[in-house]
Formats: sequence, C-alpha cells, structure tokens
Amino acid sequence: MDPLNTVLHKEHLTREDLVLLLGLRTPSDTARLRARAVDVMRAQVGDSVFYRGIIELSNICACDCNYCGIRAGNAKVERFTLTEQEVMDGARWCAQAGYGSLVLQAGERGDAGFRDFISHLVRRIRAESVLADLPQGLGITLSLGEQPLETYRQWHEAGAHRYLLRIETTDPGLFATIHPPAQTLAARKQALADLAEAGFLVGTGVMIGIPGQTLQMLADDILFFRDHPIDMVGMGPWLPHLDTPMGDWVQPLPEADQLQLCLNMIATVRLACPDVNIAATTALQAMVPDGRERGLSYGANVTMPNLTPVHARGNYKLYEGKPCMDEAREECRGCLMGRVESVGRTVALNQWGDPPAYARRVGEGKGHW
Ligand code: SF4
Repeated sequence: MDPLNTVLHKEHLTREDLVLLLGLRTPSDTARLRARAVDVMRAQVGDSVFYRGIIELSNICACDCNYCGIRAGNAKVERFTLTEQEVMDGARWCAQAGYGSLVLQAGERGDAGFRDFISHLVRRIRAESVLADLPQGLGITLSLGEQPLETYRQWHEAGAHRYLLRIETTDPGLFATIHPPAQTLAARKQALADLAEAGFLVGTGVMIGIPGQTLQMLADDILFFRDHPIDMVGMGPWLPHLDTPMGDWVQPLPEADQLQLCLNMIATVRLACPDVNIAATTALQAMVPDGRERGLSYGANVTMPNLTPVHARGNYKLYEGKPCMDEAREECRGCLMGRVESVGRTVALNQWGDPPAYARRVGEGKGHW
C-alpha cells in the first residue's frame, strides 16, 4: 500500500508519522493531506465556519516576550485601554451581527483593578447579549495571559467559558530562547492546567517557522495538544516585529515553505486531534492575501474578525504586516463572509460553536490535566 495513504488513515499517529506529514512539499502530496484533513473535519466538527469577534481591549503588558511588538520593553508603542463603553459597543455589535461569540484579548496584567474590570465586563456582556438572536447570549472567550488559578476561577464564574493561552513552543530550549528568564515553560503549562481546572474550554497554539525550530519540535507540539485537555488550537507563522529582540533574526525558510508548513500544521493537527476547533489566524493573511481561506481549506473551522475600534488597532501589532488595520467592522463582515464562501464553506451565525472535544473529554473523565 502507498505509505502516505497508510499514514493519512492511521487512527493513532506516531511522532514519525507527524514529522512525515509536516514535511510534505510536493503539490500532489500536500493536496492529499489537505483532502484527508477536510474529510476528517467534516466528519468530526462539520463543515461550518464559526466566527469569534475579537476586541483587543488593551496593549498594556507586564511581559517581555522577545517576539512581541507590544512587549513591555517596546517604548515606541503608544499604550491604550479601551473604555467600558467601547467594549460594550463592540460586544453589542458582535451579538447583533450574529457572530455568536466574542474574544476579549489584552496584554498580560496581574493587578486587581484589571482583574475586576474584566469580571465586570464579562458580567455586563453576558447580561446584555441576550439581546441577540441567541438564546444563551454571547459566548465569551478570554485571552489575557498567565494568571493565578483564583483569577481564572473568578473570570469563569463571571461567565467566560473559553480561554486562549498560546504555549508558542513546547520545546524547552526554544521556549527559553524566545522568552526572558522570568517566563518559563513550566509556568505556561501550569497556567494551561489551571484553566482546565477552573472549567474553561482551553485553547493553545504555537508559532511556526521560528529560527531553530525543527519538524520534530512541531510534532512534539501536536503530541502535547493531543495528550492534554486542549479543545482549541490557533497557530500562525512567526513574523518578525522590528522593535523586538527578534526583529533582526533571519527567517530560515523561504516564505512559500513557511506558509506551506503552517498549512501542513493545520491539517496534521486536524488528523491528530480530530474534534478540536482550529483557527485560520489573521497572521496567515499577513503572509498572503488569501491566507485565512487557505487555512480553512486545510481543515480549520474558526476565524476571528477584528472588532477593535480602528483608532486603537495600529497600537496592537504583535507582528509586522498585520492586515485589516483600517477596515471598519462593517467592511470586515462583508469581506470575511466572501472569503469564507470563496472556499465553499458557510458561516454558522448565532452559535457558540464549541468543539466536540470538550464534551468528549469531560464525558471521558478527562476534564483535568
Ligand atoms: S505575547 Fe502576550 S504576554 Fe508576551 S509580550 Fe506580547 S502581549 Fe505580552
């Protein structure tokens, strides 16, 4: 039998299988990977695409990740925090547009004022979003970095139910290279475990194409997703931001290869973790104009339209070349709908779109780390 066909149809992929899939390059091989990932996606999570409207509510961050444009040490960024009114306007717009689900994202902060502001916002949004054509109101995802377990519990009790915390890489050496010593892989893993403990649906992900990263490391990242209570995966290319310590690092891969590696990662995660939600991230669109559509066509089923007020977007650039900086959310809506439909998919409006992975793992008694 054709060896690639055997791997594509295996139920339990080994590390070697994952490396083989990630390394596929010829158009015929990548087309086969893509087709298999789409079959698995349709069988496990369906064909619909779910929206998560994202509001980048503050670029103030206490951390100094070496790759990030809004790291604390970047003095060139003008810092902002949206007002409660701006966040509520965005949430109402999200609900009325039928997006079903909202993400509140910001830099990492540990002060009590910020913690309580988030709880207050979550409560208000949950209370008001029943205005939407959505019996259970607007779903709320948070993406606010590493926090103590008590904070995660407080936010979960306020009404948030999903949380995104990217691990960026599970390789200890690479993690240490791209973060300052104060940030550790052990703490990141503990935070992910705490999120599951607090009852969140947990999302994580990695950057792809970091100098020094190997296919074996990426395969280990996928095994990490599979072997822990991870329900959602969001991944994108490493794109250097000039005002960071990694700004002059040289991308080792030609752009087309890095993009293909990102797409192979999406498809391979779909095969290894069939019932998770996978995002077609905006960073893919920074590489090529149809990057998000390509992500969807390799097995992703979520995309995140930006609802941040246009005046703030320029100061929330984690990487260079971030697209959609000037389009108002109304323009984004029509544009994105067209993008999704261009790859033969439809948007599921007014639904939370939780991944089956969560119900399965809780049903199997694997709710915790
Ligand atoms: S990646 Fe997140 S935690 Fe790290 S510096 Fe940027 S905003 Fe802060």
